[in-house]
Amino acid sequence: MPGLVIKPRSRIFHGHDWVYTSEIKKSFGNPQPGEVISLKDFKDKPLGSAIYNPKSQIVARRFSRRKQDLDGDFFLRRLQLAFSLRERLPVDPLLCRLAWSESDGLPGLIVDRYGGHLVIQTLTLAMDQRINLIVDALQELLSPQSIIVRNDSPMRKAEGLETSNFVAFGKDPDPLILEHGSLKFKSTLLTGQKTGLYLDQLDTYQQVATLAEGKRVLDCFSNQGGFGLACARAGAAAVTCIDISGEAISAAKQNGGINELNLHAVEANAFDYLKTCKETFDLIVLDPPSFTRSKKALNDAMRGYKEIHLRALKLLNHDGYLATFSCSHHVTRELFLNNLRSAAVDARRTLRLVESYSQRPDHPILPTIPETEYLKGFCVQLLPGR
Ligand code: SAH
Repeated sequence: MPGLVIKPRSRIFHGHDWVYTSEIKKSFGNPQPGEVISLKDFKDKPLGSAIYNPKSQIVARRFSRRKQDLDGDFFLRRLQLAFSLRERLPVDPLLCRLAWSESDGLPGLIVDRYGGHLVIQTLTLAMDQRINLIVDALQELLSPQSIIVRNDSPMRKAEGLETSNFVAFGKDPDPLILEHGSLKFKSTLLTGQKTGLYLDQLDTYQQVATLAEGKRVLDCFSNQGGFGLACARAGAAAVTCIDISGEAISAAKQNGGINELNLHAVEANAFDYLKTCKETFDLIVLDPPSFTRSKKALNDAMRGYKEIHLRALKLLNHDGYLATFSCSHHVTRELFLNNLRSAAVDARRTLRLVESYSQRPDHPILPTIPETEYLKGFCVQLLPGR
C-alpha cells in the first residue's frame, strides 16, 4: 500500500487523525487522490490507514490504527457502530445526526436522519468516490424511504470537489413536517438553507424555553424559528424572530402557522435591528452563524460577538435573560465567556450565569481532535438592582 512518512512532533503523535502538508517527511508508492494509504512514523512503524487528498490542506485523515480498506463491509460496520451509539444517547434517534465524520471514524461523511429520510454529505474526496457503497450500506442497515445527497457545503471546495444536491434513492419528501417534542417544523431536505433542521440545537430550544413563560422574547439569527417557537409554546407573552434570510423568515412564519403559535418574524440584519430597536425584552437569544472559520479572523469575530452582546444587554429588562451561542471552533468556551464578561463591564451590568450549553451528544467531541468541539453557549441573567 502506498503511503506517507510523517515528521516527528506532528499532531498525529498527540492523538489527532489529520496530517497537514507541512507534516509529511516523504511519500512512498505514489499515492493517488482518494486512495487509502498507510501512514508511518520516521522509524517505519505503522500508524494506521488514512484517506489521501493532495488537493486538500489536510492531506491525509486517519480512519483506522490498523490496515483497513474502505469497502462495503467497512461502511456497514462503522455505520452500525455509529447508529448503536445514538440509540443509547439521550437524543431522539429518529431526528438526529447518525454519523458525524471524524467523531464516528468516517472522516468527511455526515448522515442525518429525519424520520424515514436520510440526508448525507460527503465532504472528503475518498468518501465522495465511495458514495455508492455508502448509499448501499445505509439501505441495508436502515431501509430508509429516501436518501438525499446534500453536497452544497463550502467545505467541499477545500477538497477540490464540486457542489451539488441530488436524490440518491427514493423520492424527495417535499415538504416534510418533522415533529420534535411539542413542535412541528416544515422542512425541505433537498433545497432550503441547511440539511433540514439544525439538529445540534434541537434540545436547547426546550432548555431555553423553560425561562420563557410570560416573557417578551427576541430570537436573533432565528433561522426557521426554533428558539422562538419553543418559547411561544412555553407561554411567552410575545416572540419576535429576526433573520437576514427571507427564506428563513418565511419558514419561521409557516412554522408559527402549523403550530398555531403567534410569532412576529422580521427579515433584517440582526446587527442593525439590535442597534435601532426601541423595544425591550425579557429574554434575548443570539445564535449567529460562525463569524470565523479561520484563526486569522478571530479578532473580527470577537468584535462581532462583543457588539451583539453589548447591544442585547442594553435591550434587556431589569432581570432579563440572554442566551448566547457560538458555533465557531476557534472561539473557545473561555474566550466566549470572556467576551460576555467584557460586554457586561462595558454595559455596567452584573450578570449571573444561569446555564451553559454544548453541542447535542449526537455530535460527539473527540478530546484529541479539538476541531470536533464547536458549539458552546451560555444563559446569563441581569442581576436586578445592580
Ligand atoms: N437558531 C437557529 C440557527 C441559526 S443559524 C436554529 O436553531 O435554527 C444562523 C442564522 O443566522 C441563519 O439562519 C442565517 O440566515 C442568519 N444570519 C446570518 N447573518 C445574519 C445577520 N447579520 N442578521 C440576521 N441573521 C443572520
